[in-house]
Amino acid sequence: MSKSHNNNFEELLERHHLKKTAPRLKVLSMLSAKNVATSQPDLERVMSDIDRVTLYRILNTFEEKGIIHKVFDLNGTSNFAMCTSDCEENHHHDEHLHFNCTNCKNVYCLDDLHLPPIDLPAGFKPQSFTLYATGLCPKCSRAAGKTKLKQVV
Ligand SMILES: [Zn+2]
Ligand SMILES: [Zn+2]
Ligand SMILES: [Zn+2]
Repeated sequence: MSKSHNNNFEELLERHHLKKTAPRLKVLSMLSAKNVATSQPDLERVMSDIDRVTLYRILNTFEEKGIIHKVFDLNGTSNFAMCTSDCEENHHHDEHLHFNCTNCKNVYCLDDLHLPPIDLPAGFKPQSFTLYATGLCPKCSRAAGKTKLKQVV
């Protein structure tokens, strides 16, 4: 990880009035290094030097502050991904499509695909909407295509 990256994360924590602790920086660098969401078990594995309660608190704080958002995958496991700059404290704008690949299990944030406005019947007060798709990601569908070709030959 480059030094400038680290500085960005420190700035991010400062902006949200959070203390710059090593575990917090580590979570940020791990989540932003990947273009897919990271599952909580994966984070626990990488962050095995800190206890789960601390990790859980960090994730909660980041979610409250609008730094990361949580996505549940097909198995109901929590996955976390960095938010775009549109997110604010206690007010997320992550109503983009989440794509869960059934083969590699990766959860992709498709930031460019936003939910159309949805008018709920009177009396319903939604806090969040989730748009969720499952299937094969480009990498896996390419791989599946290759296997088929091989079988034909
Ligand atoms: Zn967000
Ligand atoms: Zn895949
Ligand atoms: Zn997302």
